[in-house]
Amino acid sequence: MMKLITIKSQILEVVDNWYKSYAGFLRGSDKDEIYKKLKKLDLQTATAEEVADIIGNPSWACKQKCTECNDYSNEVIELGEKPDWESATTWICKKCLRKAVTLINKNNKTEGEGENEQ
Ligand SMILES: [Zn+2]
Repeated sequence: MMKLITIKSQILEVVDNWYKSYAGFLRGSDKDEIYKKLKKLDLQTATAEEVADIIGNPSWACKQKCTECNDYSNEVIELGEKPDWESATTWICKKCLRKAVTLINKNNKTEGEGENEQ
């Protein structure tokens, strides 16, 4: 399912995502301490740095790697299956999305057909 992923969207979802990832191991673990600290954050105003300080690394609210060009971007579109260990999910940056649309448009011109004419 198509979804926009930004630094902000990752911050807004960090508590839920942390819980989903560690729900089975929270009791008495350092993951639980982190979970409690994350829950105290005001996610509307929290920064990526605050999230990274609590978790101990920046990977939960950071630039995302584009699967197509391997560049890191502040905004990517998540495409395909809901991410899971074995899901068919991909993350594409704006630059690559533009290229993809250009390819389709070129094809529409040369073949004289497109979604508007069908
Ligand atoms: Zn890209």
